[in-house]
Amino acid sequence: RKITPFVNEPFVDFTQPEHKAAMEAALTKIKTQLGRDIPLHIGGELIQTEGKITSINPGKTDEVIGRVSKASQALAEQAMQSALTAFESWKKVPARERAEYLFRAAELMRERKHEFSAMMILEAGKNYAEADADTAEAIDFMEYYAREAIRLSETNIHHPLPKIDSEENMLTYIPLGVGFVIPPWNFPLAICVGMTTAAIVSGNTVLLKPSSITPVIAHMFVELMEEVGLPSGVLNFIPGSSAEVGDYLTAHPKTRFISFTGSKEVGLHINRLAAQTAEGQIWIKRVVAEMGGKDGIVVDETADLDAAAASIVASAFGFQGQKCSAGSRAIIVESVYDQVVEKVAELTRKLQIGLPEENYATGPVSDANAYNKILEYIEIGKSEGRLVAGGGKAEEAGNGYYIQPTVFADVAPNARIMKEEIFGPVLAIAKAKDWQEAIAIYNDTEFGLTGSFYSTDEVRIAEALETMHCGNLYINRKCTGALVGVHPFGGFNMSGTDSKAGGHDYLLLFTQAKLASRKV
Ligand code: GLU
Repeated sequence: RKITPFVNEPFVDFTQPEHKAAMEAALTKIKTQLGRDIPLHIGGELIQTEGKITSINPGKTDEVIGRVSKASQALAEQAMQSALTAFESWKKVPARERAEYLFRAAELMRERKHEFSAMMILEAGKNYAEADADTAEAIDFMEYYAREAIRLSETNIHHPLPKIDSEENMLTYIPLGVGFVIPPWNFPLAICVGMTTAAIVSGNTVLLKPSSITPVIAHMFVELMEEVGLPSGVLNFIPGSSAEVGDYLTAHPKTRFISFTGSKEVGLHINRLAAQTAEGQIWIKRVVAEMGGKDGIVVDETADLDAAAASIVASAFGFQGQKCSAGSRAIIVESVYDQVVEKVAELTRKLQIGLPEENYATGPVSDANAYNKILEYIEIGKSEGRLVAGGGKAEEAGNGYYIQPTVFADVAPNARIMKEEIFGPVLAIAKAKDWQEAIAIYNDTEFGLTGSFYSTDEVRIAEALETMHCGNLYINRKCTGALVGVHPFGGFNMSGTDSKAGGHDYLLLFTQAKLASRKV
């Protein structure tokens, strides 16, 4: 295989009838596969357990997506042993060869991309474009990390160490060991694939515990990796509860690293647990934790106000606001405030709500817990701001967890809905007296993941670039939709460890550098 430079997988345009029809055909096909019993995969063995996680369609709650086997502590231990054994041989496989599994899996996923997307439409409640972007990102991660592993393995060619007389010196990046990978449900393919394959292509073996909300799409990926011949034990699939399997493997003395994406609360819990050294443990566990956001868009009076309003709505309500990058705050300067609020409210009211498989702009939220929590925040919002769009359940949309895209204006900077991550379709808007105050309000948060600044004034843009404190800062564009390679992704402060997924630094998190010096 000749390795060409990385390029992003293009998005599909579903306004073209043939693409829409192709997705509908994929949905029809995937629907014939729903409701199956799905096994654990441990060291190449498929294990059905009695206890099951039932995954349902959040847009049609009587539709069962799959019944997924659930690991116990004993099975988690079995998976650990198989990953430890597999590590002894996998770590010796050359990077070029490890990368080949990712290239092959990316190829197959590309061929069947609508099937992967269809599964997410049904299991996660994404519309066509959101699901397609998720699948495209999964393909990108595999293509990107495969190249990255090869690049790292060639460090001594591209970046030779300074030469001294009488010695030959080499730096190599070797794997860590067994990693515990805990991806989220909101990018149930892309982030699951990215976190897992980054660890694997670096030479580690993995215990993958998918989210209990989206285990079936994760299983489709695991089957794909088996199809391309990934050796047994390199990737073990162990859905299970956080309390039982999660804590057990986080605390396990043989767990070398934990790679987590999810809420702040769970991330901090994992970090605390991983910091304790268990009996027999001979390393400090590495924790990569990508957590929440309270991201925002700042608009000044020189901005293109229509573009700003459209981006605020896209950032706040894309996939129902269930992105850690979601723009759940907008901070607008006084002189254009009423105008922008009106534009945002109008665009929000136009979002149609309904079944994801029928490709409505707005679908359901993930599950009953999220539904109740978001509705509570909407009630809090009613006492903290002026409701200008939405404001409650959208029961007419169907038998699912539908909530109206909701906008509150005139929210004080220290209000709860300005501070706390809601992870749903709720936007809080604050007024600032000028652009500097707007940036100060933007920065007044414990998070620091994404942000946008809308302005045409170069001096202010330069100032925003310097002072808006977040991992992914965008100028005059929305704050969601980071592209692999192009926008390495990760946040500051309580948003996590700033791991920069899809960037040149990412694989360093799953390797350790070894210097070898030889006298000649
Ligand atoms: N990378 C995604 C974006 O830029 C967000 C990932 C997440 O929500 O976890 O929108």
